[in-house]
Amino acid sequence: MTAAALLANLSARGVRIRVAGDCLRLAPREALTPELLMEVREHKPQLLALLDCERVGGRLEAAFAAWREHITGCPACDRGNLGCRCEEGQRLADAYHQAWCAVYVLPFAGPGEET
Ligand SMILES: [Zn+2]
Repeated sequence: MTAAALLANLSARGVRIRVAGDCLRLAPREALTPELLMEVREHKPQLLALLDCERVGGRLEAAFAAWREHITGCPACDRGNLGCRCEEGQRLADAYHQAWCAVYVLPFAGPGEET
């Protein structure tokens, strides 16, 4: 089973999975079979990486939504060009750019690689 298939399998059983530092928290325990737990242990690094991607992806969506909302309501920012002219707009645009980089740029640099 791949880590992604395992995640799908867990969510189909109603298991919630949460990352706490380097640990995976699974609940409820009753929904887990010993076989599933073994799979989870075996795929732990991949599961952590997958879940971290989802977490970072969620931050990207939130940053984009916040920026869009500002652009739509702010008279100083240019909606047509999606350009930010006020400080708040620039801050939100920067936050969105940072989140974007975390999703699309950083994952391609392997651990320990020089950038
Ligand atoms: Zn603005």
